[in-house]
Amino acid sequence: MTQIRLAPNTSIEPCPKCGNNTSFEAHSAQVAEDCCNVWVECVCGYDPTSDDSGDRYEDVWGALNHTTMMWALDCWNSAIRGWEAR
Ligand SMILES: [Zn+2]
Repeated sequence: MTQIRLAPNTSIEPCPKCGNNTSFEAHSAQVAEDCCNVWVECVCGYDPTSDDSGDRYEDVWGALNHTTMMWALDCWNSAIRGWEAR
């Protein structure tokens, strides 16, 4: 698990529970032999992808680096937008 600290911004959707959009925890888990999921959770524990891991970023190695965390934040955005549209 890696902490993500972002500068104040308007590009990341705020957490529906606590409104935070600058502090996240990045997680990685192996889901198949050559596939890992990378996702971010809010510091309050909210995870918009917990119901549908299809919203998580898939990566062969699951390394947590700048690139994969940016993709995971992109997935956070689309998961929350999809959640709001429901
Ligand atoms: Zn939150």
